[in-house]
Amino acid sequence: MLTIMMYHYVRDLPRTRFPQIRGLSTDRFEGQLEYLTKHYALCSPEDLTAAVRGEGVLPPNACLLTFDDGLSDHYTTVFPRLAERRIAALFCPVVRPIRERVVLDVHMIHFVLASGRDPRRLVDEALDLVDAHRTTLPLPDRETLYRICVAPSRFDPPEVSFLKSLLQRVLPAAVRTEICRALFQRYVTVDVASFAGELYMDLPQLCSLARHGMTIAGHGNAHDWLESLGPAEQLEEIQQTMALLAAIIGRRPTGWIMSYPYGSYSRHTLDLLEQAGCRVGLTTKVGLVTDLATPLELCRLDTNDLPCAGDAPINEWTKRVLDSAEGTAVHASRA
Ligand SMILES: [Zn+2]
Repeated sequence: MLTIMMYHYVRDLPRTRFPQIRGLSTDRFEGQLEYLTKHYALCSPEDLTAAVRGEGVLPPNACLLTFDDGLSDHYTTVFPRLAERRIAALFCPVVRPIRERVVLDVHMIHFVLASGRDPRRLVDEALDLVDAHRTTLPLPDRETLYRICVAPSRFDPPEVSFLKSLLQRVLPAAVRTEICRALFQRYVTVDVASFAGELYMDLPQLCSLARHGMTIAGHGNAHDWLESLGPAEQLEEIQQTMALLAAIIGRRPTGWIMSYPYGSYSRHTLDLLEQAGCRVGLTTKVGLVTDLATPLELCRLDTNDLPCAGDAPINEWTKRVLDSAEGTAVHASRA
């Protein structure tokens, strides 16, 4: 049995400019590390890829830590705490923020939501911005948008879930990006490049992680829904992802790992990845890995599903998590 943990923001929340960002506090992260080292055999990404190749066996209570999105938090807060405990983990940066210093739509939404603006007002404002595009594009009317953007969420209230669905998935990509940017500039900052510089790791930091025994995985070029892209676009995503990995490790990646943005992929994605030498794929489907028969479709647990030291005993919480997520292919539970 392998437990793969998925992390996003890990930061000293009360002391940041956006204490409402939906992340894990440094204290809770330390508590989780204490808990994990006590109850699990922490394995490295290399251990996992070796097991997939049939060159090793994971211990029965193996656990792997994974950190999505290439956030600076992972360098400043996570890395020293892992290094101190000699834990080798997996870091999954997105290409464009590193190459172009842009803020991804998915993160713009998070910070707009953390700005303190009432989410009901944000829904109205987002819909007004949608209206501005109606003259040039055939977009669904408001009633239809209300209907199709309502997605049940384990973590978010309805307005937040509506906004994420509208601005992460339902609207055409160009419209989504423009609306995210408008709201971000209105409520967070107009200086997007500086914000990106603070939010994401840069190439030297990623190289430093790799030099210190951490593994870098792919997480796409633009953090897009791979299953919604055409074959050529998917290929481009994978090629850009591999180019970044090559820049970090100094050679063409082989036997590498892909973490699917939003947990989204199709049969075609899996074929392309196999051809590209990718050996392990991480989804956002909630669950424990019971075997490695389909290594490109491994499920994970969100950090928020894990107790701190002193919380419920391990069997109880695992059961609770799996019961609550039963039958749901949860897309990017925290995205
Ligand atoms: Zn992501």
